[in-house]
Amino acid sequence: MKALLWTLLLACACPVAAADLAIVGARIYPAPEADPVERGTVLVRDGRIVAVGASDEMEVPDGIEVIDGNGKVVTAGFWNSHVHFLGPVTREAATRPAQEMDAVLRHMLTRWGFTTVFDISSFNGNAAALRRRIEAGEVVGPHILHVDTPFFPEDGTPVYVRDLLEELGVPSAEVASPEEASGRAARQLAAGADGVKLFAGAIVGGEIEVLPMKVDIARAVVEEAHRVGKPAFAHPTNTEGLEVSIASGVDVLAHSTPFSGPWDEALVQRLRAAEIALIPTLTLFEAELRREDAPDQVVERFIADATQQVRVYTQAGGTVLFGTDVDYISHVDTRREIELLAVAGLDWRQVLATMTTAPADRFGHGERKGRIAAGMEADLVVLGTDPALDITGLSDVRATIRGGRVIHRTAD
Ligand SMILES: [Zn+2]
Repeated sequence: MKALLWTLLLACACPVAAADLAIVGARIYPAPEADPVERGTVLVRDGRIVAVGASDEMEVPDGIEVIDGNGKVVTAGFWNSHVHFLGPVTREAATRPAQEMDAVLRHMLTRWGFTTVFDISSFNGNAAALRRRIEAGEVVGPHILHVDTPFFPEDGTPVYVRDLLEELGVPSAEVASPEEASGRAARQLAAGADGVKLFAGAIVGGEIEVLPMKVDIARAVVEEAHRVGKPAFAHPTNTEGLEVSIASGVDVLAHSTPFSGPWDEALVQRLRAAEIALIPTLTLFEAELRREDAPDQVVERFIADATQQVRVYTQAGGTVLFGTDVDYISHVDTRREIELLAVAGLDWRQVLATMTTAPADRFGHGERKGRIAAGMEADLVVLGTDPALDITGLSDVRATIRGGRVIHRTAD
């Protein structure tokens, strides 16, 4: 009977409505630091988790959808704290057919377990439009948080987005004064942005190479976000960009900074004191350098420096958030990022934290997301491989459930 139900659900192209649901017989990791519940059941009603416990002590109501968790692992839904919607299809998220959007969001995000993503640079209201379509039930996708348009220094539009912005008809995202910066930040936040993103060090190429943002302008952007309790992301690039980030009070570094070389103890302590979270985006550096046919030793040095930064920051108790820069790069598979975080010394519990509790807590959703417990939103991932045995099991996603609704499931 269960197999038949499974087949029927897979055969149906229509989105599965948020039904009551139970995952039965799985090893459940309620939180990164928690002991597992062996042969456990998660019971979901009206989009929320209502109970978690040993399967033989819990009653599953008749008639609800049941996912067989035998041999599988269940964790809270994953966060990707650095994504974009800039690809040929996703940049037209407001107008593309829903089925096309479903497919691309599945390819990029939901099949890797992402139930919440932070878009940290969007143009022409694209991310907001996509969020509206998803929340209206028209498109199947993750919960989207976004920063709307980023802030570039004057004459500091990054070299790698110039063509794209011209194609999109974006006149300028540069800001020349603190007044201009705070004015636009206030407008974007009032219109629904969940944070701001500034280019503390913008890669402009040519003789200048990396142009830092003036600290008073960066501070004006950050202060507008903090005024309404929202986070500020910075793209730091190099040492100077890190200094601008610290001086302006940003909350999250959107990348590690292999251009700066290894981080020394003094810098690590200053970043810690400033309570800045780090999104490593290790795969990004590797993918970009490989795309540019950089020599192996250059790639290896960049990755060595970037992983050193993640290692020392983690050892110092700094917060690390999982993020891949997907859709700026076309690489979607999360396996390599997880492997590189392991190279940086993170164990599976620490990597799981970067994908669940750390972002949920950092972005103010810790009361509702990031853990499996009664009362929390039913954002869940079913894994085919136990990450305690193989850390890359965190990329072996068999089902993704958002708000009690199955938004991705493999045939297995
Ligand atoms: Zn990015």
